[in-house]
This record gives sequence, structure tokens and C-alpha cells, in this order.
Amino acid sequence: MAKIQMKTPLVEMDGDEMTRILWAWIKDILIDPYVDLKTEYYDLGLENREKTKDQVTFDSAEATKKYGVAVKCATITPNAARMPEYNLTQMWKSPNGTIRAILDGTVFRTPIIVKGVEPYIPTWTKPITIARHAYGDVYKNTEMRVEQGSKAELVVTDKDGNETRELIHDFAKCDGIIQGLHNLDDSIAGFARACLNYGLDLKQDVWFASKDTISKKYDHRFKDIFAEIYENEYKERYEAAGIEYFYTLIDDAVARVIRSNGGYIWACKNYDGDVMSDMVSTAYGSLAMMTSVLVSPDGIYEYEAAHGTVQRHYYKYLKGEETSTNSVATIFAWTGALRKRGELDASPGLCDFADKLEKATIATIEEGVMTGDLYLISKLENKTKVDSKTFLEEIRNRLDAMMQ
Ligand code: NAP
Ligand code: MG
Repeated sequence: MAKIQMKTPLVEMDGDEMTRILWAWIKDILIDPYVDLKTEYYDLGLENREKTKDQVTFDSAEATKKYGVAVKCATITPNAARMPEYNLTQMWKSPNGTIRAILDGTVFRTPIIVKGVEPYIPTWTKPITIARHAYGDVYKNTEMRVEQGSKAELVVTDKDGNETRELIHDFAKCDGIIQGLHNLDDSIAGFARACLNYGLDLKQDVWFASKDTISKKYDHRFKDIFAEIYENEYKERYEAAGIEYFYTLIDDAVARVIRSNGGYIWACKNYDGDVMSDMVSTAYGSLAMMTSVLVSPDGIYEYEAAHGTVQRHYYKYLKGEETSTNSVATIFAWTGALRKRGELDASPGLCDFADKLEKATIATIEEGVMTGDLYLISKLENKTKVDSKTFLEEIRNRLDAMMQ
């Protein structure tokens, strides 16, 4: 059989530990036999980040801007323990943080649903995609402890030196705390466009929520920017696609999410997204079944798994022990990137391959062949736990049959 050809390369960002091992196997076993893979390769493994003084991370983000689609392996974000382990000269920043800052993107996380692994919320039969605004609010705050007898004010000095003041609190009776937050109209607008574009991509409704009744200027600004952009730029396309943009209060949204069947994108302010993404991913059953894509406002896509490098399994692997690490989210990072490349390049063969690889992966698990993490939670009656590599070979058997 002739291999599927690619017109434009993908940006490939390799990573660390167990996911780096899975990365090579996925390519060898599941992709190379069918696709004449063209990638521009960047090694974001910690050793190479150290060797290049992290330049490789910046270069990989620039390449992503150039080609429009990237696929990334999980990478170590160094902490104190990693300094001696990898002989680091600096505690290099999180590559995801660096890439996100360069692409100015929004992260969308979507669970992969399989029969047998049931969400804790039984009505969630379709995935809920969470989009988290990745700028500002409490993550870029200024805060102080305040002594009794002090008065705290909000002061803004305009470009001509005029001051506007508002009392925050007069701490006459006791000590206390204060916090200053900000956000930017441009960042909120970029977030709104990324979410509304992704809704069109997936043909799914977009929900957004804040607390505008209490926060009449701050949260209200988010609500207004979303509403303006929707009305002016998206309304017609949403109506044509038969999908909707829906705004409600955050507490009402939480109640509706629990009662829903899923199948929409939930756009969250920074803190809401931080908290809700952990709740939603846990409720769907497994972090190893969560995909993640960074989408920039100008339509650049970087696909990855939501989990980390699975360090504990890697140490077992290094000792020659058997591992049973779930590669599903990493496989779906590859299929997401290949499908998007296929869409952008008008290469339907690539999209078709991505669909089949996803189907073969899900069929493998639904036929009872799975890694240890799913084996523990799957409700299937006949199930077998397999090691990391056997799982990929089992997918390959099913994929082969589909590709005939
Ligand atoms: P982790 O790699 O996500 O793993 C945490 C635990 O979750 C594992 O020990 C394992 O549990 C389970 N798990 C996660 N993914 C799994 C999979 N694919 N298959 C089976 N089990 C899985 O998080 P971490 O241990 O906190 O972080 C390890 C490294 O990853 C850190 O250096 C961190 O900086 C990095 N990290 C990178 C990214 C990224 O690149 N996007 C994201 C998060 C963390 P058991 O051990 O109980 O089997
Ligand atoms: Mg969190």
C-alpha cells in the first residue's frame, strides 16, 4: 500500500521521560507504516533545553507560527529536584508557558470517551471541552497584608498624571488583606475569538459565564466583549452552522453543566478554568484520556496530551520493569495535528487516516484491551491489562484491518 503523502510539515516537539518513550513507539508502530511523515523536529527534552539554553523552545514556537500546526510531547517543568538530576544551569521555565506566551493562545481540553469508562456524572454522554483564559486576574495579581489603622485605595494615574481614587477599605478595626487584579481588552477579545472559532471548528455551542451581577465593571467587561464580538463577527456563521453562543452567570453555568449531556465548549475565566478543568477531567474518569490543544486567535494549533511525563512509570521502565502507560492522549495529539494539517492542506487522506487511528484506538479499549489505569476503572466484563507497547500493537492490528 502506498503511504499517505503530506504537503506541508508538522512541527514536532519531542519531550521527556515515559512520554518520550511512547512518542517514538507511536511513530514507529502507528504512523510511519501509513504516512510518509514530514515533520520539522524540535527536541524539547530537558537535556536539549539545557544544551541550547532553552533556545529550542523559542525556535519550536516560531516554527509553529510559520507552519500553523504542531504536536507536542509532555515535557518536564524543572523544579529543585530536577537541578541535580539533569545538571541544570538554570531552572528553565515551563515550555508550555513559553509557547503559550509566544502564540498568545487559548488551551482547550477535551476528554476522550470510551464504553466501559463511565463518567461520575452519568448524563455526560458527550465530551465537555473546557477553554481557560490564560491571562491575568488572580494569576498576575498584586497583594498585600494591611495593618489595622490603614486605609487602602485603588489609584489609577492617567497619561496626563490625573489620579482617580476609590476606597477599597478602611481597616480601622482590624488587620486584613487586599488584592489588585487586572485584565486587558485585547486579551479578553483574543480569548473570545479563539473560543468562538473553536466552536465553529467543532460545530458545537460555546458557553461563557462570569459574575457580572456582582462585579459590575470587571466581569461585566468580559461579558460585553464576548457579546460584541459574537454579534459583529460570528452571529451569522453560528446561525448558519446551527450552533449558539450562550452567556449566563457562573453559578448558573455550573448547575447547567452538571445537568447537561455535554457536547459543548465551556469558556472559563482564568481561575474558573483552573478549577473546573480539574473537576471535569476527574469526573470523566482519567487524566490519561484528556487531550489538549492550544489555539491562537489567528488560527495556529498546537496539540498535546493534558497529562505530564508520567515520571514514576519511566523510572520503572529504566529498571527494565514492565510498564502499562496509557498512550491514548498522546495518540490523539498526533491525530488532532494530522487531521488539522489535512484540513489546511486539502489532503483528505490525512484526515481519513486520523479518523481511523482514533477509531482503532477506541475499538481496542472497547474490545477490552487496555492499560492499567483504565483496567482499574473500566466496567467491561471481559478486560485484559496489557503493557505499554502491546497496547500500541493491539491498536496497530485493528488499524491495519481498517486501512485495507
Ligand atoms: P503526570 O505525569 O501527569 O503523572 C501523574 C500520575 O498520573 C502518574 O504517576 C500516573 O499515576 C498517572 N498518569 C498520568 N498520565 C498517565 C498515563 N498516560 N498513563 C497512566 N497513568 C498516567 O504528572 P506529574 O507526575 O505531576 O508530573 C511529571 C512531570 O510532568 C513533571 O516534571 C511535570 O513538570 C511534567 N508535566 C508536564 C506537562 C506538560 O508537558 N503538558 C503537564 C503536567 C506535568 P500512577 O503513578 O499512580 O500510575
Ligand atoms: Mg488546576
